Amino acid sequence: MSLSLEDITLTYPDGEGRLTALDGVGLDVPAGTLTAVVGPSGSGKSSMLAVAATLVRPDRGRVVVGGTETGALSAAERARLRRRRMGIVFQQPNLLASLTAREQVELMARLDGRGRSGEVRERARDLLDTVGLADLAHRRPHQLSGGQRQRVGIARALMNEPAVLLVDEPTSALDHERGAAVLDLLARLTREWRTATVLVTHDRARLAVADRVVELVDGRVRIPGPSGT
Ligand code: ADP
Ligand code: MG
Repeated sequence: MSLSLEDITLTYPDGEGRLTALDGVGLDVPAGTLTAVVGPSGSGKSSMLAVAATLVRPDRGRVVVGGTETGALSAAERARLRRRRMGIVFQQPNLLASLTAREQVELMARLDGRGRSGEVRERARDLLDTVGLADLAHRRPHQLSGGQRQRVGIARALMNEPAVLLVDEPTSALDHERGAAVLDLLARLTREWRTATVLVTHDRARLAVADRVVELVDGRVRIPGPSGT
């Protein structure tokens, strides 16, 4: 399933006027490929993911997921699309305070009413193991570090085998080695599951995992030159 953003413009209210966060952004992410998005703080990276996730409606332009123009869908249909087909990892992983790591991950499958309980349990355990949290599955968010919470968020996003994976700065709270492992994992799953993956990252050192790199500057896409500037 591919993801396309076509000529997206997004503005936010700003005092008397409007602030243009995205200005004619286009992006094509074929199934099975990983696009990295870089750019300075405030350049519109998180806004672009929110639009791609159909959480925020752009002022103009189209978001097409697997051939479906999402602007024509109802709020309930968009919610179902997100639940069934999208894995979304925000910068702040909004975990539920009362649930253990394992329960947060299992909840994704249960919300969708899918999977036998044994299967769901096993899959959640495998995913927590994959992100290096096998031994911490029983802990609640306040008993985990920022980096560990981020990894719970990643395992949660992978629970329903998404066709579109949207990840915002997954390595910001991780040490170097753990960050590399997370990026390698996302690149591997992109191939194995044929996911259309968009990864916002500050980590220019490891852009080699990406099939393509786009840079956002002041809400516009710029394709970086070979020097990486
Ligand atoms: P990035 O993720 O690249 O740092 P953002 O997409 O978060 O950039 O922000 C782009 C611009 O939009 C910034 O100027 C930011 O202050 C503004 N912005 C982001 N979210 C909102 C919002 N909900 N309301 C108003 N302005 C916002
Ligand atoms: Mg951001």
